[in-house]
Amino acid sequence: MSETADNGRGGLLRGRRVVVAGGGLGGLAAALACARRGAEVEVLERAPEIAEVGAGIQVSPNGLRVLSALGLDAAMQGASVVAQAVEPMDAISGRPVTRFDLTRLEGPPYRFFHRADLIGLLLEAARAAGVTVTLGAEVGEVLPDADLVIGADGIHSRLRPRIGNVEVAEFMGAVAWRAVIERPGAEPVARVWMAPGRHAVTYPLTDGRFNIVAVQERSQWAAEGWQHADDPGHLRAAFAGLSGRLTGLLGQVEQVALWGLFRHPVATTWHAGNLAILGDAAHPTLPFLAQGANLAFEDAWVLADCSDRMALPEALASYQRMRRPRVERAIAAANANKRNYHLRGPVRVAAHLALKTAGRLAPGAYLGRLDWLYGHDVTAG
Ligand SMILES: Cc1cc2nc3c(=O)[nH]c(=O)nc-3n(C[C@H](O)[C@H](O)[C@H](O)COP(=O)(O)OP(=O)(O)OC[C@H]3O[C@@H](n4cnc5c(N)ncnc54)[C@H](O)[C@@H]3O)c2cc1C
Repeated sequence: MSETADNGRGGLLRGRRVVVAGGGLGGLAAALACARRGAEVEVLERAPEIAEVGAGIQVSPNGLRVLSALGLDAAMQGASVVAQAVEPMDAISGRPVTRFDLTRLEGPPYRFFHRADLIGLLLEAARAAGVTVTLGAEVGEVLPDADLVIGADGIHSRLRPRIGNVEVAEFMGAVAWRAVIERPGAEPVARVWMAPGRHAVTYPLTDGRFNIVAVQERSQWAAEGWQHADDPGHLRAAFAGLSGRLTGLLGQVEQVALWGLFRHPVATTWHAGNLAILGDAAHPTLPFLAQGANLAFEDAWVLADCSDRMALPEALASYQRMRRPRVERAIAAANANKRNYHLRGPVRVAAHLALKTAGRLAPGAYLGRLDWLYGHDVTAG
């Protein structure tokens, strides 16, 4: 990739060999974005199959613009629930503190997916675009031979340290449980149930399924990853004594997985030579703003676009320059949410009052605070 782009309009990826390490949400989006620009793309996935955990995922307009530009509009229709509103809830009284109408957001409607459905539609589109997916293929010591190698190998990335990142993750004293229950006919609303030192987020999925993510501050360490099953009784005990509206939902949980939440610094360096990292490999994102996958989709688009328009060293440097400040801002906003959800005592009362007032007097202005996040369109060029 040494020549310059044709009038800056792109085309450098055409016929180039791109290898993506990791077939998660970010890796498949990157594979599809490169294939749409004419690259020959192979995804190397360590697992014996492409699969996602049984849980929900919220995709906001900024991420949906990428999926839409990748040609997934029709596929997304039947595979997701269009969200109407988000309701911050007082988890003690069980009453909404306020309600924000998500249909006021500009751009594509906010959606709730089951992760398996989202990964399924990305995989199908990638294969239809000519992407080869090789399973049981772990990328590690030896980098694949390609014009561009994309490290989309997730939170425990092996490629991230290869380009000089030596940051150490730190347990942040909180764990998350996730579960899916049956709840046909539930309102298409995301509820954030706030209680001192704890919160839960609930929303409906397609086919009567209903997603629960519950976070509790605690000092007892837990491993980072969804492969750890837990006793649903531990989840119920953590939220005992709160409103019956919430504890009733938790009472339905039969299977639950536990994830220890760690703070990882954003990678200092996102590229070296012909290798670039994206998604959780570059910036593991705590789940307090529902943005990890959304940011990975944005990364995928920008990386493919830069690589199509510029020769490699500049392309990857531009990619990092465009992405890092935005990702850092989103991660800071997610961290602030955790603090606000878990408040105690008089501060909690005052914060809920302020939220209620904002929701009544200026709901547009309140959601407008997130215009920089949801209104961003990486596909606009
Ligand atoms: C509780 C919780 C709730 C969340 N909710 C949301 C939400 O609502 N909205 C949102 O946008 N984000 C959410 N996120 C974040 C989101 O899940 C992640 O940011 C996103 O899945 C990252 O995608 P990725 O492709 O970068 O990594 P992953 O999805 O982790 O994919 C990495 C892939 O690489 C493979 N792999 C690993 N190592 C290798 C290797 N050496 N060689 C080859 N393959 C390899 C893995 O098997 C995996 O398939 C949430 C996270 C948590 C913990």
